[in-house]
Amino acid sequence: MTIKKVTKIGVLTSGGDAPGMNAAIRAVVRTAIFHDLEVFGIMRGYAGMVENDIQELNSRSVANIIQRGGTILKTARCTEFYEYEGRLKAYNNLKEKGIDGLVIIGGDGSFKGAQRFSNEFDIPCIGLPGTIDKDIAGSDVTIGFDTAVNTAVEAIDKIRDTMDAHDRLFIVEVMGRDAGYIALHSGIATGAENILIPETKTDIEDLIFSLTEKEKRKKLVNLIVVAEGGEYGDANELAKIIKARIPSADTRVCILGHIQRGGAPSCEDRLIASHMGYYAVESLLIGRNNVMVGVVNNKIHYTPLDKAVKQKQKIGQEWMKIVKILAS
Ligand code: ADP
Repeated sequence: MTIKKVTKIGVLTSGGDAPGMNAAIRAVVRTAIFHDLEVFGIMRGYAGMVENDIQELNSRSVANIIQRGGTILKTARCTEFYEYEGRLKAYNNLKEKGIDGLVIIGGDGSFKGAQRFSNEFDIPCIGLPGTIDKDIAGSDVTIGFDTAVNTAVEAIDKIRDTMDAHDRLFIVEVMGRDAGYIALHSGIATGAENILIPETKTDIEDLIFSLTEKEKRKKLVNLIVVAEGGEYGDANELAKIIKARIPSADTRVCILGHIQRGGAPSCEDRLIASHMGYYAVESLLIGRNNVMVGVVNNKIHYTPLDKAVKQKQKIGQEWMKIVKILAS
């Protein structure tokens, strides 16, 4: 099989933004230029592809961005891309510019779009996992998770100080949609007494019992970290349930929200993004298509996009046991 050589590639960031996306864009652009490829920045994810908001980038376009959060290409959700007509429009815009390879930095939704697109048209797509949620199979790491979880830890540490001063029960809600990684990692790292994640069923009676027991032992300070997609609703709902069962509990809720998405990417996220960005371009050059570049056991690993979106990373149940033991 002869490999059709790519000559002009497009790069875009799509879906939820994640710190480190800029570092990935930089790596893609500079690796492409190193290989004498032309490289185009597609603005606002698939929206820019459909609306022809595409501009050529050079080495200087990505100067001084490795340390910046957000994404210089901006990101968006694009309903037109769900329809064939929208994707065809996008394809024609790329063809008109001669773009013959794409790098998509985003989450599982963006990969679903990329997979459909590369199955329908003759433009190979390479995905880079850019999501703070870490909810992608085929990679131990995702661009943005490390920064987001460290932001959550820093915030929860501060909450713990005031919580301790007042003997309060605090419920902190962290991001992650239907994935519990930010909650699990930040909860363990801040010594949370309870962590509620969507991947594990929470026995509410068990939770109430442990809180009541602690109250009896005058261990009134309690930190509960809950993932936003939890089975008992958001942190406010959980607070209502607890308050109804333990009226004496001085309960407060803090929803960390979008601060978890912002800020300068951590060293780890910059490294991951640089590594993956480099391999995305190398992949296009050797004719890979429809795969995600990930890292497994510290080595670059390729996963077909359909597998990356279908399976979730599994959360080790052992951790939940350890949380209980350490919080006693
Ligand atoms: P994320 O990539 O962070 O999971 P979304 O789920 O919002 O974010 O997906 C980002 C974009 O990818 C959507 O706005 C849409 O344009 C595109 N997309 C998602 N799912 C599909 C799909 N099944 N078919 C075509 N495009 C899709």
